[in-house]
Amino acid sequence: MLQLDFHPTGRHFLQIPGPSPVPDRILRAMSLPTIDHRGPEFGALGRKVLGDIGKIFKTQHPVVIYPASGTGAWEAALTNVMSPGDHVLMYETGHFASLWIKMATRLGLRPEVLAWDGVDKDLPHAPSWRRGVQADMIEDRLRRDTERTIKAVCVVHNETSTGVTSDIAAVRKAIDAAGHPALLMVDSISGLAGADLEHDAWGIDVTVSGSQKGLMLPPGISFNAVSPKALEVSKTAKLPRAFWAWDEIIEMNKNGYWPYTPNTNLLYGLSEALDMILGQGLEVVFARHQRWGAGVRAAVQAWGLPIQCADPAVYSPILTGVILPEGVDADAVRTLIYERFDLSLGQGLGKLRGRMFRLGHLGDSNDLTLVAMVAGVEMGLKLSGVPVAGSGVEAIMAHFSAPPANTQAQPRLRVA
Ligand SMILES: *Cc1c(COP(=O)(O)O)cnc(C)c1O
Repeated sequence: MLQLDFHPTGRHFLQIPGPSPVPDRILRAMSLPTIDHRGPEFGALGRKVLGDIGKIFKTQHPVVIYPASGTGAWEAALTNVMSPGDHVLMYETGHFASLWIKMATRLGLRPEVLAWDGVDKDLPHAPSWRRGVQADMIEDRLRRDTERTIKAVCVVHNETSTGVTSDIAAVRKAIDAAGHPALLMVDSISGLAGADLEHDAWGIDVTVSGSQKGLMLPPGISFNAVSPKALEVSKTAKLPRAFWAWDEIIEMNKNGYWPYTPNTNLLYGLSEALDMILGQGLEVVFARHQRWGAGVRAAVQAWGLPIQCADPAVYSPILTGVILPEGVDADAVRTLIYERFDLSLGQGLGKLRGRMFRLGHLGDSNDLTLVAMVAGVEMGLKLSGVPVAGSGVEAIMAHFSAPPANTQAQPRLRVA
């Protein structure tokens, strides 16, 4: 049978927490002809994006751009500053943190894993996957490292598998309080351009990021923001690296070029994204995500379902995880919502598989697309027989229509 009704009309609701919905303006920018990557026009593009990307990371130092997914930039970060067998302290906040830990092991490092080990009644098997990085645990461990064998502390800024945004400045303070020389390495693949991130002010040595989350681009480019200390360490670090090596790229970037063929059309998109984000101002972008997050959480609370993040101080402005009642298959609910309403939600990853789903509130969204997302989820919950306490749709509408919050509404695009 022909499935003519599969992608019926209107837009697909891509509400996974990355890739995020891409603005038309960025898609159009990417449709320009591909140019000579050694020619003068390309140099101007390269210099522009390399000049502006630092404003997003809030750094004066180099930001390396790779034609790779975020996972590539994770590998780049580790291989540029680590040597075989190095001891690294990695904090497990969720699935992405655990994947970075697995990668460190595969690269021949010796990760030591810290995780919150308290009691959680809703998710007894994954208590640390509901909370942020506990900086005091890091401080305590570093103080006990009297031989200074720990070479780096690795943390995830916005844990995309759970919807928890950790306090990175607190981690910096913990390292300083212990007087420890370890590098601070941060995965902000989904945090950047959605939640505040201050590479220089927070004393981060390497920030890893990617294109397809807060930057609103398709997948395919990723980043390492690099501190002078990390650059210095990279000169003597011994893990093998070639494609990922910072030195040649940073050298060629001085004139706006790369040592190999960069992905030209994604860089057109990046240039457009930087104009949009910096044109609005990062503070406006962060306030918008905070407001969206609060609206979506109001809906989840009205349903009476637990939010994956158990600590309100670290709710993510970028996505919200929703735990379903024991015995309900969250993936079956997600599939029903996808098939009936053409709405994609993020699946529960790793230890959370089948127990929860994730609602993305990032990218080219607005109040009404998020109300529609909540409506799709609410209908799907009811169709699946999941009992809900009240209406999430009413709650998010009340949140978005309450004065004075609407003064923070997304500014309209103005023609220059
Ligand atoms: C998306 C994501 C990754 C993985 O990035 P890929 O582009 O899929 O390789 C890693 N960490 C976090 C926190 C992410 O959100």
